Amino acid sequence: MEEMKAKQEISSLREELNKYNHAYYVLDRPSVSDAIYDQKMQRLTELEAQFPQFITSDSPTQRVGGEPLDAFVKVQHQVPMLSLSNAFSENDLRDFDRRVKDGLDVEHVTYVCELKIDGLAVSLRYDNGIFTQGATRGDGTTGEDITSNLRTIKSIPLRINETETIEVRGEAFMPQQSFLVLNEAKEENGEEPFANPRNAAAGSLRQLDPKIAAKRNLDIFLYAVGQWESGTLTAHSERLHHLSALGFKTNPEWKKCSSIDEVIEYVNEWVTKRADLPYEIDGIVIKVDQLAYQEQLGTTAKSPRWAIAYKFPAVEAVTKLYDIELSVGRTGVVTPTALLEPVKVAGTTVQRASLHNEDLIHEKDIRVNDTVVIKKAGDIIPEVVRVVTDERDGTEQQYRMPSQCPACSSELVRLEEEVALRCINPNCPAQVKEGLIHFVSRNAMNIDGLGEKVIEQLFEANLVKSIADIYQLKRDELLPLERMGEKSVNNLLQAIEASKSNSLEKLLFGLGIRFVGSKAAKTLAMHFETMDHLAASSYDDLVAVNEIGDKMADSIVRYFGEEKVQQLVHELRNLNLNMTYLGPKPNVEELVDSPFYEKTIVLTGKMERLTRSEAKERIESLGGKITGSVSKKTSLVIAGEDAGSKLDKANDLGITIWSEQELIDTLKEIDEE
Ligand code: NAD
Repeated sequence: MEEMKAKQEISSLREELNKYNHAYYVLDRPSVSDAIYDQKMQRLTELEAQFPQFITSDSPTQRVGGEPLDAFVKVQHQVPMLSLSNAFSENDLRDFDRRVKDGLDVEHVTYVCELKIDGLAVSLRYDNGIFTQGATRGDGTTGEDITSNLRTIKSIPLRINETETIEVRGEAFMPQQSFLVLNEAKEENGEEPFANPRNAAAGSLRQLDPKIAAKRNLDIFLYAVGQWESGTLTAHSERLHHLSALGFKTNPEWKKCSSIDEVIEYVNEWVTKRADLPYEIDGIVIKVDQLAYQEQLGTTAKSPRWAIAYKFPAVEAVTKLYDIELSVGRTGVVTPTALLEPVKVAGTTVQRASLHNEDLIHEKDIRVNDTVVIKKAGDIIPEVVRVVTDERDGTEQQYRMPSQCPACSSELVRLEEEVALRCINPNCPAQVKEGLIHFVSRNAMNIDGLGEKVIEQLFEANLVKSIADIYQLKRDELLPLERMGEKSVNNLLQAIEASKSNSLEKLLFGLGIRFVGSKAAKTLAMHFETMDHLAASSYDDLVAVNEIGDKMADSIVRYFGEEKVQQLVHELRNLNLNMTYLGPKPNVEELVDSPFYEKTIVLTGKMERLTRSEAKERIESLGGKITGSVSKKTSLVIAGEDAGSKLDKANDLGITIWSEQELIDTLKEIDEE
């Protein structure tokens, strides 16, 4: 990158970051998400590393936090309250480990891993055992005196058994439950809710009236010692023990790790376990345990060299939307997809995001060429959260959906009560192709070697235009095709042949009858046992089956009433496809006796002896229904190790709770009956 361009980008990033810092630290009202802030900060750090001539001491990369508010008395920190440098990947953690070892010239270092509580750093000073002053971090050297507000936090001891002056540090935070209650009340009063528990905690502690803070149910975990004369302790882990011995609340989840591999294991564990905590964490803090080592490594202007904060993968990122593409699905629904400049989100590169339908595009006012925020939570498909309107420069164009199908040019329609536009031409090639892809997919006929790409290839080559064509493919037709060697053709034909003996539910789901998902297909197959019985069933026969509603019943009757469908079934039968249910028959009498029959059950916490899916499978096979969240309708909660908020909620609602052992014992009893 040329120097002039870098200088410009550095200056605009600094301006933006300073603006974000003000909103976040001074107003307690962030204007962008943390992920976006971190992404921009990372970019600025990279540019400054590449062009060190542009680093200035007022750059946001060199400064801690924000300016303290004038409304409070200022407190000078005797020992600066620093920020932490960040790690975003396993590699960053390994680099940190290398830097630490190189800096100390040692081969072995012990680390302490702690949860990174998402609140605000505060310092508590005790003189002669009495809590005398509490302050915010502020800009690292000067904080705000918030003693009276901190006194309202019940877990802060007002007196400790220590005569020496000691200043301890920790994170004040708002537990999730208090945050929800507070925001609900704010919304009811027509006030703007807090963006997250961190800002709610900061906003509550920086109130001039301590009565407000007192109502906010804040809490605190202590994790460090600032100023302290005593020099007897030699390790951070010893200090943590000492803090709790003095009566401070420390977080119980910390762990001593003897290698970076162990650290990484701890980090990965918490990526999923964090969801069960009753408070928010945004990462893991890793600290060198030996205090002598900490001293040797020292600090930079902004952060200690002996600690690092691993930030959980960002679920949001900013990128450019350069076009909108349309695709026609199996049922004719036309879906717009955003084409994006590639951007990393939660560890993977995202280039496309579904925009669902035209209404959503207009609601969010998404235009071609807009800068957009992309979100990806867990395994969920990426979505466009919002447009960054500040970035608009006039080149953006509003988007109109076409009135004709992009695949077959028939007029698109909007069915009543639907937001989607649909192509209703049954011969639309895009729909036919998607239908075929669905037919061979894993939950349907599960034909190995016949994925999306191969179906597309066969479709373009005019070899497969309907489901029945799949079963009439010949070796000689397949061999000349690209990427089709002797072996793959043999395997493919074998897989197609094998799929003919699939149990009825696979074929039923594969046919793509509207509203019939794989679970309903199984229920139907179990109940009616053969395709003929199902095809001959009436609306009343269908709705009488548990789990089959009117919409589905209606759709099934209509489907089998179509001549085209009857012909297809006839053809498939002649091609020797199995049309009978081959799975185990449920013994309803036995099921009724099962303790899980028709019960709604929630699994939470870590199971030691059964995997989640094993437990789920067993319970479902015994007539129980597994759901994700605890509510009044929940009949039973099975709680493994470290169960968190779901267990608390179950307790509050008085729901029966079993341990994993009780589940195992019950399953054993059933097996032995
Ligand atoms: P940081 O939050 O990345 O890390 C340092 C802080 O971690 C400490 O000061 C302390 O408060 C906290 N912490 C929690 N648990 C800890 C533990 N066990 N041990 C030690 N420290 C612990 O750094 P920062 O300087 O406080 O804030 C920067 C971050 O804040 C950014 O990365 C961003 O995520 C967020 N931020 C967001 C915006 C925005 O506009 N959205 C603006 C500014 C900052």
